[in-house]
This record gives sequence, C-alpha cells and structure tokens, in this order.
Amino acid sequence: MKLAIPGWDIPTLAVFGSAERFPVRRVFCMGLNYLDHKIEMGVTGEVPPFMFTKAVNHVVPCEADAVTDIKYPGKTTNYQWECELTAVIGKRGANIPAARANEHVWGYAVGLDMTRRDLQLWAKDNGLPWEVGKDVEQSGPVGAIVPASTMGHPQTAALWLKVNGEYKQKSDIAQMIRPTPEIIAFISEYYTLEPGDIIMTGTPGGIGPAKPGDLIEAGVGDLPVLKVRVVA
Ligand code: MN
Repeated sequence: MKLAIPGWDIPTLAVFGSAERFPVRRVFCMGLNYLDHKIEMGVTGEVPPFMFTKAVNHVVPCEADAVTDIKYPGKTTNYQWECELTAVIGKRGANIPAARANEHVWGYAVGLDMTRRDLQLWAKDNGLPWEVGKDVEQSGPVGAIVPASTMGHPQTAALWLKVNGEYKQKSDIAQMIRPTPEIIAFISEYYTLEPGDIIMTGTPGGIGPAKPGDLIEAGVGDLPVLKVRVVA
C-alpha cells in the first residue's frame, strides 16, 4: 500500500521488565469515580456512570525510572493533574459481564488525565462537549505496564500524586465508586473493547493546577512510579 501522505507511529507503552512494547489503540476515561473528587467538583446526588475519550496521539509513553517532559498547553491558565489507575485491554469483547472483565485486562499502569479545568468547566456550564478540556495534546502520560499475569488484578492499592515532592493526592483504588471490572462492563456496552484500548479509571480528590517547571510523580500500589516534568 502506498500512502498519499507519510504515515505516523502509534504510541507504545513500556512493559516493565520486558523489551516488548504495548501498542495503544484508544483511550477511555471514567468520570467522577471517587466520592471526594465528586465533592470537590461540586457535584451532588446520584450521577450515572459516564466516560469520555482522549485521542490516542495524546498518550505520552513514560519509561520506568525516567522523567518525561509534557508541555503546558495553550488556551488554559488552570491545567490540572488527575492520577488514575489505568487498565490496559488485551482481549476483545462487547457486553462483558463484570464477573468476567478481568479476563480482558492485560495489565495495569499509572496514568495521568491532565485537564484544562477552566475549559472543561466552561464547556460544562454551557452544556457543550468536554473535548477542549480533556482531549488535550500530551495530556495522557502513562507509565510502564505491569502484566496482570504477574501482578494479578488489584482491588486495593494506595494511589498518590506528589508535586515537587509534596503530596497532593492520597487515596486507595478501593475507594472507586465503580471498580475496574464494572467500568469495563459499562464501557463494553457502548464499544467493542479491543486489544490496545486503555482505560483511565478516574481520579480521587486532591486535583490542582500544575505550572511549568513542576515535577509530578504519581503511583498506584507497586506499579512503576510515573514521573513527568511540566514544561512551558
Ligand atoms: Mn480523570
């Protein structure tokens, strides 16, 4: 096949302890999946499960034991961090029952769902789509994946995020309103999940604005720590 314009590479994530790479197909993100985050966002009452997506080219693969630069985007003065357990899909499926969801998970990594909060809130207030707030270039750094074949499927694990050495988020994935298997069941009602899809499972409270120069470190359990530097 001859392409009319030059082709491009898709992002591939590191696999911890392996030379293999994990190709990323799509990025799904769960909204409002921790109570303290829901409260800090000013949301009260029952909210049905919902998700949004980021374009795959916004994924920034981060190697274990390295600091990766991410650029501070334009059109915002409130670019916020959100640390999230990220599940990566290795097996195709639609309408997956929660009880069988783990069979579709190839592994887990730490991810950030960086957000132009000012634009997200502007969109929300005006009843408009969230893309300008969430579908942001370089807004999806993801660390090295640990295969589920070695780590299993965590139901509890400390989740934390530090900025310049200071804790900003401290929670546990056990605090998720809908745990990972329920998220997979939910998303797979709308999409046929495919190998290479990754799912950010939502952030706990403690979100806040990053600024150029900040070092953000994020962890979930024993997964390789994600380290990014925000650059102007
Ligand atoms: Mn998020």
